[in-house]
Formats: sequence, C-alpha cells, structure tokens
Amino acid sequence: MSSSDGGTGRTAGTPDPDPAAPRFGAHAQAPFQGHHILSVKQFDRADLDYVFRVAHDMRTMVDLVGSIDLLHGKVLANLFYEPSTRTSSSFQAAMVRLGGSVVAISEVRYSSVAKGETLEDTVRTLEAYTDVLVLRHHEVGAAARAAVVARKPVINAGDGAGEHPTQALLDLFTIREELGRLDGVTVALVGDLKHGRTVHSLARLARHFGITLRLVSPVDLRMPDDVLADLVEAGVEHSEHRDLAEVIGGVDVLYMTRVQKERFADPAAYEAVKGSYVITPDTMRHLPARAVLMHPFPRVDEIHTACDADPRSAYFRQIAFGMYVRMALLAMVLGRA
Ligand code: ASP
Repeated sequence: MSSSDGGTGRTAGTPDPDPAAPRFGAHAQAPFQGHHILSVKQFDRADLDYVFRVAHDMRTMVDLVGSIDLLHGKVLANLFYEPSTRTSSSFQAAMVRLGGSVVAISEVRYSSVAKGETLEDTVRTLEAYTDVLVLRHHEVGAAARAAVVARKPVINAGDGAGEHPTQALLDLFTIREELGRLDGVTVALVGDLKHGRTVHSLARLARHFGITLRLVSPVDLRMPDDVLADLVEAGVEHSEHRDLAEVIGGVDVLYMTRVQKERFADPAAYEAVKGSYVITPDTMRHLPARAVLMHPFPRVDEIHTACDADPRSAYFRQIAFGMYVRMALLAMVLGRA
C-alpha cells in the first residue's frame, strides 16, 4: 500500500486490471481520492489509522457544529438492491452533514431494474448524475462488477455473503473509541460466521492490529475456508468454538451476529440453527467488566433487550460511529479529507 499513484483502485476511466483488489496508498497527498472501496483487503495499517483519525475529527465536528460544507455541490447515489436501515441512512446522513446531497434508490423494484436493466447499465446511469456511488447488492462481487464500468468511486455497502468493508471499518473505529485501543485486543465473533459479511470483513482486518479472534458458531455456520486461510496466511491468532462459555471470560469484545435467514436455500436448515446464541443479563455476568458487546444490527433475538441498559452494550453507540466513518470515507474518496 505504498505506491504514490494510489495503487490500482483508480476510477475516472483508468482501466483497472483487477478492480477487486485495488490498494490505496495512504502516503500520497490525497490518498483515497477517486478510489473505489470494495474490500477491506485494500487497506493497510497506515490507511486504517488515517480513516480513524478523519472519522474522529468528524465526530468532534458533529458534536460541535452538526454539519459543515465540505462536500457542498457533491451528490451521492445510494443504490440498494437489498434491505438496509443503518447503512443507507448513515451514508445519507453523512452526505447531508457534509453539505452534499443524495439521490436514493432503495426500492429497485420500482426502478428500471424491474424491467430487466443490468447492474452495469444502472450504475452507468446513476454515475452520470452523481459524484460517488454506494452500492448494496445480493451477489458476491457485485461492487467489483460495478467498479469495472464506473468512472466515479463505488463504495461496497455489502455484496451478498461477501464483504461489508465500511461496516468493518466502523466496527474497528467503535472498538478504538470504546476501549481506547485496538492493538492486541481479543474479539469473539459469534453466530452466523458462514454468511455474515460483516464478520468476513472484520476478521480480515485483525492482522493489522494483532487482534486475537475467537470464532464461535454452530458447525454448519463456521467461518468460510477462504477467510480462515487468510487468517493463517497473516498469522492471526484464532480458535474455533461451539460453546460461547469457553471464551466469554477472556474477551475484550463480544461481537454478536444474526443468523442470515435470507441466505438459506432450505428453511429447515435455518430453523435448525436459529437462536443458537442469545445474550441475556445472565450471560453478561460472564463478560469482563471492561469488555464491550457489539452487533452490526439488525438483531433478531441474539441480544435480549434487557441488556440494553448495561454500559458495556455498545451497539447503539456503534450505530452512531458508523456515520462518522462514512463521513470520513466520502470526504476521502471525493478528495476533500
Ligand atoms: N446489517 C448487516 C449487513 O448488512 C448485518 C446483518 O444484516 O445481519 O450485513
């Protein structure tokens, strides 16, 4: 991640031989300007520190004045083929707080997608009106496909069971803000590790901070082999478990996930594993006093609402941190950070 031309993630008509694996080059002057954000694999430690610094500045700015005109005149296209509450509205709020505006298509069934329009044509249409495109899609690799044709930056807001890079960045930012550090922390990822794109992205970032991972899931929902291979290759300390009780007393972060019902072909298979892990006030008694409980949301039944008042429950603060990180990313890809 050191090339001064920003690596291979350039947009604006520069053909990219492998758009799924561009890297930024955080050492250039406007390091992220004009780049797609498709995968966490694009980020090195310097990039991550930079994102978190800018996000922290955004947090301070919002606390002080609410909004600024940094992106005045810029327009974001929010294109969502799958349901979203937090990702779509936090990108929208991020853009508005930076003085920009948003064109939102979150009901693709009312757009030309319903007439059979390809992803590529929809992307090329929206980029004609806007400066940056946020895309959520049900297919793994959809954002990379969009990036092949797009001349404006594409930000992956979740591609099927693939990745969710901006969520992973906000998850790490949350840990940093909550615990005051990232280096050397132990994180338990719990639940549907097979289909959960947020944990795929988060696990892949562990290498940069010496994070130890405890992977807790039913056998059928284990972390996919390609992610495990990345952990081994990067020397990330990790272990797999069925029983949360084996690890809960030794973690700094307990990261719960929803069983991803929509990714199951067989409803009976979903019924067999749903409700595998439920955090109650009783479970919280085993979580260390200084640890935090996180969840990308939506929660279904993984965390009992009686846990919400526990100061270690960080999930609503995590939601707020998401907006600061997305403000930082928008400012960076538009060359204004
Ligand atoms: N909101 C997250 C996602 O889009 C987590 C989830 O849906 O369970 O991946």
